[in-house]
Amino acid sequence: MLADRRTMIKILNTYFASTASREDIMENSSKHQSLPGIGNMSMERATISSWIRQSRYRAKRQDIYSDLEISDVEEIIECYKNQCAYCGSAAETLDHPFPLKIVAPNIPANILPSCKDCKNIKKNNDLVWMFSSGKLEQESYLALLQQLFDRRGGDIIKGHVRKVTGIIGES
Ligand SMILES: [Zn+2]
Repeated sequence: MLADRRTMIKILNTYFASTASREDIMENSSKHQSLPGIGNMSMERATISSWIRQSRYRAKRQDIYSDLEISDVEEIIECYKNQCAYCGSAAETLDHPFPLKIVAPNIPANILPSCKDCKNIKKNNDLVWMFSSGKLEQESYLALLQQLFDRRGGDIIKGHVRKVTGIIGES
């Protein structure tokens, strides 16, 4: 499904309007709703820690905010049952839904487990692009956004979404 910019903004406006009133409830609910029946980590701890090290290095070099801990990332991988957040196949690596290239921060709210195929498709594009180019269904897109918003640093990511979609002043 291809969504043009106008349609996408309309969807997001509706979405932001409906989530704004829910924010108080979100604030009080637990930050992470861990899913039951979690299997073994499919990603090696060494893979995870080397990815985090690299992301910290890149953030530092670009003067981008970074506060990612290995425990955050392990928790995130578990929440997605070791599956790629985009397509559901086995997670092989990690991804910034809003890449450091667009000066998005290196924080828990900006990390998703991914398979290598999805990562190759997405490259340095952001989550909004994944939706607007038809790589993600609307339902999965909005669900992923909500999950990111609910995490520590979610407000910063929400600000990024508003910025990249040009939603400010268009409601
Ligand atoms: Zn995938």
